[in-house]
Amino acid sequence: MRARRPDADALGTSPPRRRDVLGYAWALGLGALTVPALALSTAGIVRAQDPSTAAGQRFMRIGTGSAAGHYFPIGGMIANAISRPPGARPCEKGGSCGVPGLIAVAQSTGGSVDNIRGLAAGTLNLALCQADIAYWARSGSAVFEDVGPMPDLVALARLYDEKMHLVVRANSDVTRVEDLRGRRVALGELGSGTLVDARLVLAAHGLTEDDVEPVYDRPGPAADQLVAGEIEAFFFVGAAPVTVVTELAEALPIRLLDLNGETFAGMSGRHPYLSAGVIPGGVYAGVPEPVSTLAVAAVLVTTKTLDTETAHGITRAIWHPNVRGLFGSEDEPEMLTPALAPHGTGIPLHAGAQRYYEEAGYLP
Ligand code: GLU
Repeated sequence: MRARRPDADALGTSPPRRRDVLGYAWALGLGALTVPALALSTAGIVRAQDPSTAAGQRFMRIGTGSAAGHYFPIGGMIANAISRPPGARPCEKGGSCGVPGLIAVAQSTGGSVDNIRGLAAGTLNLALCQADIAYWARSGSAVFEDVGPMPDLVALARLYDEKMHLVVRANSDVTRVEDLRGRRVALGELGSGTLVDARLVLAAHGLTEDDVEPVYDRPGPAADQLVAGEIEAFFFVGAAPVTVVTELAEALPIRLLDLNGETFAGMSGRHPYLSAGVIPGGVYAGVPEPVSTLAVAAVLVTTKTLDTETAHGITRAIWHPNVRGLFGSEDEPEMLTPALAPHGTGIPLHAGAQRYYEEAGYLP
């Protein structure tokens, strides 16, 4: 059966999923915090643009991605880092180093494009987003041409680099993107940055969605369909190793397609913030050689409606020495450090974030 094509919606957005993480309460086991947080997540009563709901407390939603990717768990970690509910133990006593009164939740979404839509609609306060998608959203170009520019979109931090994964079975006769013609291919879920970039890769090789049998699914179901032989390949843009791909590689021999210079030549430099990258050899079982591919930064974004003090406090909390291990740890070599965070975001920094990086000596 042919999957529904998302022509009706140029942005390819998917309905928001109700899967929130109350990061702070989960991490610290603060049961009392679950009451306001669940009210926020299930009833949707609280408007995100008006986060002050109770004396001394503010609630914020962080848009992430599919539970199978990195955005969702990282959004939960960011929620932990920036939250500081009233009564929490002070930072200097080993407690929270977040923004006083702030309680943040991470919400699962379709990914980057959905997140931009959520910010524009005011249903999200912060979001993870690919730098290319953020750039196009702010400038109202490419996939956002129909909706126009979003000059209020600003960045708090570049966090780490994501890689384009184009996965096939090891014994597949697909060795080049062109070989996908006429095949059933999972391009990414509606609302994802993956879908936008998958379309660009196809176009760079002279293909459109009409030349393949497109499937619009999350990485988990896409991997299952690859195992079942129901699809020939799937795309996913995420930091390597992607858990779904790791598990898939252990279940069945896989190959990652090389997206070499030809892909860039086909894009002819029209797509800033998509750069050449490598998935190192040995990251996935049975894939011993490095794979050339596209790389893009994962950025924490917000809008100018967030006040400068809060934006400053959130940025400081993310890079606080007590939680800095979230990023730049030895286990996560792809993760960035605060010295790199203000660069390559695709969009300007929020004034509060700019102030933090200047004060902390990461910007002149
Ligand atoms: N970059 C992906 C997207 O926006 C999501 C990656 C992830 O969840 O780790 O579609």
